[in-house]
Amino acid sequence: MSFLNAEEPTVYELVNDFGINILWHPTVGMEMGHQMDKMLKDLVSGDLALDIFVFEGSIIQGPNNTGKMNLFTERPMMEWVKELAAVAGYVVAIGDCATWGGIPAVEPNPSESTGMQFLKTAKGGFLGADFVSKGGLPVINIPGCPAHPDWVTQILVAIAAGRIDDILIDEYHRPKTFFSSYVQTGCTRARHFGEKIDGGFGERQGCLFYEVGCRGPMTKASCNRILWNRQSSKTRASHPCLGCTEPGFPHHDLAKGTVFKTPKTLGFMPKEVPDGEGKFSYFVKAAVAKILPTSKELAVEETTK
Ligand code: SF4
Ligand code: SF4
Repeated sequence: MSFLNAEEPTVYELVNDFGINILWHPTVGMEMGHQMDKMLKDLVSGDLALDIFVFEGSIIQGPNNTGKMNLFTERPMMEWVKELAAVAGYVVAIGDCATWGGIPAVEPNPSESTGMQFLKTAKGGFLGADFVSKGGLPVINIPGCPAHPDWVTQILVAIAAGRIDDILIDEYHRPKTFFSSYVQTGCTRARHFGEKIDGGFGERQGCLFYEVGCRGPMTKASCNRILWNRQSSKTRASHPCLGCTEPGFPHHDLAKGTVFKTPKTLGFMPKEVPDGEGKFSYFVKAAVAKILPTSKELAVEETTK
């Protein structure tokens, strides 16, 4: 569904302007039933070329590593994944489930789920740490829950145009062009982060880091630079960033009361500090910022003079 919302380029442009032939997709794929079964077999045998294999969803290996919990055309999906990855020019994993296992892989992980080439932060996953596709690259990971549609279509265009070697990937195989800066970059609440002004769900002012668990300062993604639907983002809509593009997602065991809540030390200091900050220096800076008057208070003083 996210893919269909792409705007730069759109799915229509992907097909008509960039000449990408979408062999199959749950919504826009033309082949069904036996036709699709035949097409998949033709891809595996090499009768039909598979330039890019895009996979979404965790690799379900249960029960007991048989993969029978998730059948596709009457065989375990994981068998299709292994065979298609072996013949594809490039392999792209879309969303947190395909990249690092996502919510299905949260302990105790009853479906034995994993990502294509990572399980959480550990390299390996289903295809193994050494996997490289025929084009010579490991799995390209586009995480997110969901992944931003323009991240998907722009990477597909880069591959189709023969420019994928220009795209650098980080240690988790994320294209650096989208995953170098933090969600906080471009956040309209960044000033209030610095001034330690708390905000909450639905509030237009204030930072969502201190009480409702925003992970914007430790999450690499361009959500506040390349806006969703070209107009908004979670933090702009008064919703904390959940850190969905980081391999630790969902970052909690999902027990009641652990989500949308900032874990605290001594009952008042956030347990996790922004990336690149030492805990001690952050706490000192935070204490000073709390003592100094905020711009909000200075503005009030000005108007009362
Ligand atoms: S912590 Fe979240 S709400 Fe606060 S400035 Fe950073 S991204 Fe924005
Ligand atoms: S704002 Fe955070 S949780 Fe929302 S899509 Fe971006 S990285 Fe994911």
